Amino acid sequence: MSARVLVGVKRVIDYAVKIRVKPDRTGVVTDGVKHSMNPFCEIAVEEAVKLKEKKLVKEVVAVSCGPQQVQETIRTALAMGADRGIHVEVSGKDYETLAVALQYETLGPLQVSKIFAALAKKEQADLIILGKQAIDDDCNQTGQMTAALLDWPQGTFASEVTLEADKLKVVREIDGGLETIKINLPAVVTADLRLNTPRYATLPNIMKAKKKKITNVKPADLGVDVSSRLEVLKVDEPPQRQSGVKVETVHDLVEKLKEAGRI
Ligand code: AMP
Repeated sequence: MSARVLVGVKRVIDYAVKIRVKPDRTGVVTDGVKHSMNPFCEIAVEEAVKLKEKKLVKEVVAVSCGPQQVQETIRTALAMGADRGIHVEVSGKDYETLAVALQYETLGPLQVSKIFAALAKKEQADLIILGKQAIDDDCNQTGQMTAALLDWPQGTFASEVTLEADKLKVVREIDGGLETIKINLPAVVTADLRLNTPRYATLPNIMKAKKKKITNVKPADLGVDVSSRLEVLKVDEPPQRQSGVKVETVHDLVEKLKEAGRI
């Protein structure tokens, strides 16, 4: 099989960081905050690399859209086993003007999916694997929009992927169970949590990754307009949880509930 896979790797605030909203409520604090690859993108990379190890695909290309720093995210994907990277550069200036709120505001799912659709054609990709969702915007839209723009079939929320010639069997995590579908390539798959356990990049592989190639392109080179269609009005902290009350007896509990108008 000579398939080429594009994998989307988004740089996000690390999942372990406690997010702080800026005092002027225009966004969240990103300066000096640890960033990492979106966890679902790690799963997407792992799946693509596994397909390559099984010799079912020829090349794995890691793609990240954003400012200069996303190259670190691409390097991580290269250290995990991707063959080369594409950095779709959105300059700091565009970022700041449009990034009224979250860091990736200008690059919402619509803009990113236009980029992936254009790259898929340029690179003659047969498969695009994305995370099911980015943990910063929680959009869960990019895979679906990319498939729609390309008019390709989609296997979203994948927990198992089997490539058989030009067909893909995808087990999908749906409400209350698993759904198995068969789709034709080219296709878009989005990775769910149980698809695999991503490998850690080993030191030798991190060193090797330094020699792998990252190509730089601008959205305009791909004919993509990244202007945002959304205006973020404000960003708020989630409401503080009220502290609870300890009661000694069931009788006290019932009284408290009555007082609070709950029963
Ligand atoms: P979302 O639709 O924003 O929840 O993102 C779903 C997936 O789309 C992510 O897990 C990535 O694989 C991909 N994606 C979104 N934004 C970017 C980006 N800026 N660069 C690369 N991939 C992205």
